Amino acid sequence: DVTLLWLRRDFRFYDHPAMVAAAANGAAVIPVFIYDDQVAALGAAPKWRLGEAVDHFADALAEKGSRLILRKGDPLEVLRALIAQTGARAVHWSRAYDPASVARDKAVKAALKEDGITAESQAGHLLFEPWSVQTGKGEPYKVYSPYWRAVKGRDIAAPLKTVSELRAPSNWPDSETLSDWQMGDAMNRGAEVVAKYAHIGEARAQGRLSTFLRDHIEHYKTERDFPASGATSGLSENLTYGEISPRAVWHAGWRHVQEGAAGAEHFLKELVWREFAWHLLYHFPDLAEANWRKEWNGFPWRPDNNDAKAWRRGMTGEPFVDAAMREMYVTGTMHNRARMIVASYLTKHLMTDWRVGRRWFEDCLIDWDPASNAMGWQWVAGSGPDAAPYFRVFNPETQLKKFDKTKDYRDKFILEGQSNPPQTARDFFDAIPRSWGLTPDQSYPAQIADLKGGRECALAAYHAHRDTD
Ligand code: FAD
Repeated sequence: DVTLLWLRRDFRFYDHPAMVAAAANGAAVIPVFIYDDQVAALGAAPKWRLGEAVDHFADALAEKGSRLILRKGDPLEVLRALIAQTGARAVHWSRAYDPASVARDKAVKAALKEDGITAESQAGHLLFEPWSVQTGKGEPYKVYSPYWRAVKGRDIAAPLKTVSELRAPSNWPDSETLSDWQMGDAMNRGAEVVAKYAHIGEARAQGRLSTFLRDHIEHYKTERDFPASGATSGLSENLTYGEISPRAVWHAGWRHVQEGAAGAEHFLKELVWREFAWHLLYHFPDLAEANWRKEWNGFPWRPDNNDAKAWRRGMTGEPFVDAAMREMYVTGTMHNRARMIVASYLTKHLMTDWRVGRRWFEDCLIDWDPASNAMGWQWVAGSGPDAAPYFRVFNPETQLKKFDKTKDYRDKFILEGQSNPPQTARDFFDAIPRSWGLTPDQSYPAQIADLKGGRECALAAYHAHRDTD
């Protein structure tokens, strides 16, 4: 028997239900990755990072005597061609939950079944299937706290053992070559810079988890808000590409809860924010595009503009904002508190539409996740289901004093004014495209927005809109 294992965002061996299903009964397994329209449409950094995940996993498979078959095209056509070439009778994959993937997978499953092929999807990307959590009225949750209360006592099955052997088929079908796809091509910032900060592959993900549990989980609740502390797990990047399973992370955290680690439950709560985001996106598929609260339609947010351009380039003259935007450009990630601050600054002080910011994050984040990104932006903008009220405007100066008192974060990413800047700050100028016209010898920009005036303007617009709504 031959089965196809269609890999998408599940580049791991430990706790991989679809891989276990594909390999059941001693079947020979052909792992496949398909470069389809969805991959083509990814932002620059996520596409580059996905390519790295694929490359890394292809090597890991080769070490086990297996291979990763790469094909470009429409998934159904590719799978049908592979079935014809290999005589495979079954296709397995891990479920995806964003609207485009749901539609694609449904169509593929129906068509393969009609062809008489077994087509099976398994859980693996989430702890809780989005439809398995419902309010008493049978509706999806719209607020995080009751969602958390509904799931926190659930029994979560133990992770599945690592698949140690994948039997090879007697003949391997041809594969395309990853480098021909040039998945890093849109990275103006030069993949080498971001690559220094990325943690690619299952072994590094597991290493990150162990380090976090050893050094940080105890004080997670108090330290997690300080961007220079390095006190969070950094696992979002690996969870995004399935280099570690949420179930493995949950069980590791849960052991620390039982051992009495102070910050452990808080860590699990954060992990469940990711679940909640997917719950929302699954049930409200236009979460990434449209204001969830329709009363926000018609709010006078500005479309893209020169201030937003300065924001993207980390040149607003607001050190916390600029450090964060440069951090994202250079490392492909940004600390959670900083994400909230830059998002608030863009949507409030700069009165710019949250979708302008969402799109930039989509281009720059190596942990880009359509659900968490959309939820995060709508939360800050005030237009989301469980959102911060619009009048909650983060003041980046006060935030800097509170969360970066020693200015370590600022200095890590802002080179101007430092006689001996660290490499992280220099990396920004190494990474930006020449067309931006920025050089390290220019002085740090003046503030582009008056914080008090910007706040008042935003609040006045909010009140005017609310009154006319
Ligand atoms: P830790 O603090 O170690 O948390 C553990 C895990 O819990 C994370 O890896 C993540 O999977 C989950 N988690 C933690 N905080 C959140 C949160 N607020 N929302 C959802 N899940 C969370 N996260 C992404 O993974 N991809 C995105 O594209 C993304 N975009 C965001 C955009 C905005 C505007 C905001 C405010 C937040 C966004 N987040 C996004 C959520 C959050 O900032 C990151 O998940 C977090 O910074 C990742 O760092 P970590 O792995 O060290 O987290």
